[in-house]
Amino acid sequence: MRITVLLLMHLALSACTDDAPSHVGGALPGEPDIRVRVIRSTDAVQIDADATLQLQPIGANRKFVSDQSLAIAMKAGVWTINNEALPDIGLAPIEVRLIDGGPGDVIRVNGRAYPGLVHLVSRSAGDAPPTRMDVINHIHLEAYLPGVLEREIYSDWHLATFHAQAIAARSYALNRILNAPPTRTFDVESTQASQAYAGATTNPRAIIGVLETTGLVLTHGDQVLPAYYSSTCGGAGLSPDGAFANDEYWPPLQPVAHPAYCRHSRYFEWGPIRRNLVSLGNRMTAWGRQRRHPIRNLRRITDIQISERNDLDRPERFTIVDDRGNAYDLSADEFRTAANSTKAGPLPKKDRLLSGFVELEIRGDQVVIAGRGFGHGIGLCQYGAQQMAEEGHSGRDILATYYPGALIERAY
Ligand SMILES: [Zn+2]
Repeated sequence: MRITVLLLMHLALSACTDDAPSHVGGALPGEPDIRVRVIRSTDAVQIDADATLQLQPIGANRKFVSDQSLAIAMKAGVWTINNEALPDIGLAPIEVRLIDGGPGDVIRVNGRAYPGLVHLVSRSAGDAPPTRMDVINHIHLEAYLPGVLEREIYSDWHLATFHAQAIAARSYALNRILNAPPTRTFDVESTQASQAYAGATTNPRAIIGVLETTGLVLTHGDQVLPAYYSSTCGGAGLSPDGAFANDEYWPPLQPVAHPAYCRHSRYFEWGPIRRNLVSLGNRMTAWGRQRRHPIRNLRRITDIQISERNDLDRPERFTIVDDRGNAYDLSADEFRTAANSTKAGPLPKKDRLLSGFVELEIRGDQVVIAGRGFGHGIGLCQYGAQQMAEEGHSGRDILATYYPGALIERAY
């Protein structure tokens, strides 16, 4: 089976660069590691642990051992540890591990606890010497997942919801591991750009939900499904190609009609809200400039049309027209993120458009928006999954509803 072949290839590649047992607690046979970028672009970090820290520049013949908290910085292309410059190790990534820890011991980075290893990787800065680093947690996949469940769903939700969420999150993660570009230093972000990750957790349902589904993933054909999920579908889902306007096509991610299980979510219906057309236009041009999208040339908005809907009547594409008569095309999730952009980054949560599942009407210098759902709407609906669990459905029932036609198979 292809999954097994791909996993073995991945592990063989890992084995070339990682000759020591890498983690507290052993991996299952065939279980891969995942690389999670937990801090993006910082100039310094504070690292400590309850056990002895060992720092090893990868590929260099030096090790640093410490029982103390360490301040590590990247200054003008030189690593420093507690302000001591280490020019001889160059820009090699630094691997941080515990050498006398017990099971459950963690490495704390800026106070947040992570199981597994931590890699500090300098960020290239064109021709200039780097002054920043990324922090990447390397961890067995099963040890990573409780920290995802901790962040993605509420700790008092039903265990069946945790089962479904664990299998979806494992599938998404494994798909990303298997498809990571060779030059990338990480597989997933620790934010909702991939899936949220808390690091170490003691949340019992998160731990049990992962343990009781160990190794299980959603598949289609011979592939591990990138099992996207979002908070609240609002009663009708969307496919990845509909949400993101890419060519990602997976039959189990094509939405089908099902009861509006998420009807009790506070995000099921929202608005109407009003947006000034000038400020909305400014957000869309800011977003367009960040992505070199044609909408960076947008002038004053005169019209916004829903140009395509899917079979469930959920908007898939929007056309934005300006006072020069130029029309710009955005997918549903592009519309949502563009409407939430500013030059300085995303809007505060209270001002954000929660989804692209909206109806719009232009009134004078404003657009009135009424919406449904929260998130991109692909795959599992978290509030819907919780309602199904409350009604007595199992994790498997939930997954069959939101990923129709997918199989649940053991990857390791
Ligand atoms: Zn839903």
